[in-house]
Amino acid sequence: MAPTSVGEALSALASATDPDDLKVLAGGQSLMPMLNLRLAQPMTLLDINGLHGAWGSIELGTGCMQVGALVRQRAAERSPVVAEHCPLLAEALPHVAHVQIRNRGTVGGSIAHADPSAELPAVALALDAQLQVIGPQGERQVAASEFFRGFLTTDLAADEMLSRIDFPRLAPGTGTCFLEVSRRRGDFALVAAAAVLTVRDGLIVAARLAFAGVASGPVLSSEAESTLIGAEPSPQVLDAAAHSAAEALSPPADVHGSANYRRHLARVLARSALTTAWERIVG
Ligand SMILES: Cc1cc2nc3c(=O)[nH]c(=O)nc-3n(C[C@H](O)[C@H](O)[C@H](O)COP(=O)(O)OP(=O)(O)OC[C@H]3O[C@@H](n4cnc5c(N)ncnc54)[C@H](O)[C@@H]3O)c2cc1C
Repeated sequence: MAPTSVGEALSALASATDPDDLKVLAGGQSLMPMLNLRLAQPMTLLDINGLHGAWGSIELGTGCMQVGALVRQRAAERSPVVAEHCPLLAEALPHVAHVQIRNRGTVGGSIAHADPSAELPAVALALDAQLQVIGPQGERQVAASEFFRGFLTTDLAADEMLSRIDFPRLAPGTGTCFLEVSRRRGDFALVAAAAVLTVRDGLIVAARLAFAGVASGPVLSSEAESTLIGAEPSPQVLDAAAHSAAEALSPPADVHGSANYRRHLARVLARSALTTAWERIVG
């Protein structure tokens, strides 16, 4: 099915008696491998690439940058608007797979898919992005911190779609940094850290540190936030925040790395990301 209007797409979603029978297809870069491996076996694919307008555009809204769910990851990576207004997203995008995959993969698809090792959900969490969801009852907005519910699971109901991601504009005095370690260039993150730091009058007034690859979904560290807010930025404070954030994690162990190794990576990446974010404010 290839709807050309949102109404048509929503009717198709509403008509599915079993949610597993119908799957939304955006860039296909996660869904097609899942079909190939028979991890998903829907009767019908709902190809939403025919939805135009805001679904495929990047706009500056009031206090935020609005990225349509169907914006290709590569288009966002090359966008001067993203580079200027959302440098954390711009820095994270080249870590997502390879150019060929980013040419098809969409920003919304990555966030809706919610892979725990994916870069963009962690960026959305670190920036406190607001996710615009459309369904039979109309539109609703969900904070990234409420959206990710666990392994490949989000707040989206079976009859809803993610239509847009609103990334808040950065306050003056804000620095950001995204860092990751993966086994090979283009692989999913073993661990990634996304840091956002705002300093005013010599004190940290806002701080958000998010990780990928350390749990069943992206993780926002409340420990780092409480260590940082109100403190004067210094190497010791940033290290203490990275340490407290990493200690609070219970990362999974698998063939790619033990839990201890991932925790170690989380601490090192967090400290470096926070330090670079701070240097970018100063610089
Ligand atoms: C070899 C390879 C390496 C990769 N490496 C990485 C990596 O390092 N990091 C990374 O983050 N990703 C990686 N990916 C995944 C890639 O980034 C995908 O593009 C992304 O995860 C999904 O985006 P998509 O547009 O292709 O979505 P699709 O594959 O079309 O859809 C993915 C899921 O999201 C749902 N969905 C999609 N859009 C919407 C929407 N608007 N509303 C509701 N539901 C929706 C679909 O129904 C499906 O369940 C890799 C993929 C491949 C094939």
